[in-house]
Amino acid sequence: MDAWKAGAADLERTAAALAARIPAELSGLARLAYNYRWSWAVGGPRLFRAIDPHLWEVCSENPVRMLWEADATTLAAAASDEQVRARTAELVDLLDRDVAREADGDRAHPVAFLCTEFAIHRSLPIYSGGLGVLAGDILKEASDGARPYVGVGLLYRQGYFRQRLDPSGWQHEYWTEERPERLPAALVTGTDGAPLTVTVPIHGREVVVQVWRVEVGRVPLFLLDAQRRENALVDRWITSRLYVSDRRLRLGQYALLGIGGVRVLQALGIEPSTYHLNEGHVAMAPLEVTRRLVSEGRAFPEALASARTATVFTTHTPIAAGNEAFTPREIADVLGTLPADLGVDLKEVLALGRAHPDDADEPFGMTPLGLRGSAAANGVSRIHGGVARAMWRHLYDQAEHDEQVPIGHVTNGVHLPTWMAPAMRALLGRTLGPGWEARASDGLWAALDSIDDAELWEVRGILRRELLAYARERAATDRLGRGEPVAYVEQALHAFDPDVLTIGFARRAAAYKRLYLLTHDPERALRMLEGERSVQMLLAGKPHPQDEEGKRIVQGVFELKWAPHVSERVAFLEDYDLGLASRLVSGCDVWVNVPRPPLEACGTSGMKAGMNGCINLSVLDGWWDEAYDGTNGWAINAHVGNDHAALDAQDANALYDLLEQQVIPAFYDRDPDGVPRAWVQRMRASIRSVALGFNAGRMLADYRARMYP
Ligand SMILES: *Cc1c(COP(=O)(O)O)cnc(C)c1O
Repeated sequence: MDAWKAGAADLERTAAALAARIPAELSGLARLAYNYRWSWAVGGPRLFRAIDPHLWEVCSENPVRMLWEADATTLAAAASDEQVRARTAELVDLLDRDVAREADGDRAHPVAFLCTEFAIHRSLPIYSGGLGVLAGDILKEASDGARPYVGVGLLYRQGYFRQRLDPSGWQHEYWTEERPERLPAALVTGTDGAPLTVTVPIHGREVVVQVWRVEVGRVPLFLLDAQRRENALVDRWITSRLYVSDRRLRLGQYALLGIGGVRVLQALGIEPSTYHLNEGHVAMAPLEVTRRLVSEGRAFPEALASARTATVFTTHTPIAAGNEAFTPREIADVLGTLPADLGVDLKEVLALGRAHPDDADEPFGMTPLGLRGSAAANGVSRIHGGVARAMWRHLYDQAEHDEQVPIGHVTNGVHLPTWMAPAMRALLGRTLGPGWEARASDGLWAALDSIDDAELWEVRGILRRELLAYARERAATDRLGRGEPVAYVEQALHAFDPDVLTIGFARRAAAYKRLYLLTHDPERALRMLEGERSVQMLLAGKPHPQDEEGKRIVQGVFELKWAPHVSERVAFLEDYDLGLASRLVSGCDVWVNVPRPPLEACGTSGMKAGMNGCINLSVLDGWWDEAYDGTNGWAINAHVGNDHAALDAQDANALYDLLEQQVIPAFYDRDPDGVPRAWVQRMRASIRSVALGFNAGRMLADYRARMYP
């Protein structure tokens, strides 16, 4: 089977079935709906929204579901709309041309990118945060660059949890079930027309998985799904929820993806040149490659060495809890006959996940396994590379210094067409010319200087106003959902001033992100909300369901909700996701990030903000330490130490000082035309430096140059 064809006919058939239900003039829409390429095409989201804005929202911007559910009148109206038809034809043409381009690389041997989460679009809720966004952005960038990649992940029917807060600010979680038949995905069938399946030995049972194909431009994403009748109920649950809380099931997920992912690729006829393991969860993949080589007659050490040469591993977290480890018993249980298949003792397999192979009590770490199973490994920023070398030096006997530990770094980047707001893309397009996103070189970026201050400032105003209109409705809806008094709900509808400096803070609400620094000195924080030159603030973030500390931190912010000005100047927007993120990073003026150094491995939301001219104010940790140059934002020095209370007080003070003495005056200091010249200067520096240095194209080029075999 041609590697790139696996499941392609199934997608075509599925799209044809949808085309048959909608007016013939719109049949191109069915084709568009089944390839996420529309989501980063200029005018793509607008086209679908125009058909039925309300239904579009109800369907979480899932075009397949919307087109299936739209009634005949709506579809007829769209079919007779000249603009919809013209836009559809344009986008179909764009898609055709995009897919027809010659590949830059060997299509017969793509990079297989394995990850537990992929954030492609909010309508495919199989992600939780930054790790997934990175994975999604890598696939999109690979598509734009015509690089041969395939993604491999899991299709979680219930995805990640949805967030609902109560009036005290305490988080409650709920899950909703997706019907994959209504996702832009098709079940891959075999030559017999039945769904193609693969079995994966997990906990002594043969778990049957089927495979869905999702189109991400030119890149296929294959998602494994254990919801098969043959499977025991408990085994079906393996692909229910992202990072399912039960340890045994979660380990089952890692085995299903690591071992099953390799098997599925083989069943699809895909022979990767490289397995890129994104984070420790998928670290079992090289064991399966080794098993295959052993079954072909090779000896274990040689087979493992061979599997390793084709494998690259990226570690993402300096937080101990993020580097999961399991007991020898748990590992023995999940792997079953794997050691025997490899012709070795269990102990030899366990040694791959341990620092001291002879210590029978030492747990088995997924990150050590990833490091031992790969020929090259990297952290995700310069600082994080160093942190990872120190963290894992004990695995390398021969390394006497951290510098000798073979872990490098590739600093993350974000997919510019996904994260730059349409209004900003259009403004730059007018100056830089069509297709500028693919040619973001120095020469072109010099042209950025020719854009008028007033024009840049005007776009900022448009984006801020769009965000605030959205935030008003969303805040009011959240308040209704929490059962707040109606008077308080209505305050949200009149909240936020389109001319006031708007600060954003949104991220996974893990404790080390220190959301609480914003209110560390409540009186000083509240003072900034009042007067002529005030600020307003939009917050969002989801603590992990088991993260009680994170939940208390979110709740802490709510303690101020009845203080003066808070209800009309501050909102915590619930259920942070890709859609909310893209509005916040483009609409806010300042993006605040105050992680406890050195725990921010990289951070990517600030990159999304920076390329939109939303200026970063951040601790010099992760990516900001590389990006900050004194002209493109504001910085808080990184102080590492154990006295957290003292460091928190110091950093909160630095944050307030910067806001009061620099940020607020610069924003309100206008020339006679009403333009804050110094502010716009900083915006320009931010857009240029971030879009050039921290876009995903640079990241992929780095992976190619430094990491891939
Ligand atoms: C970008 C993004 C993240 C990661 O942001 P950080 O700054 O790395 O914390 C998390 N969640 C969503 C929804 C995002 O879009």
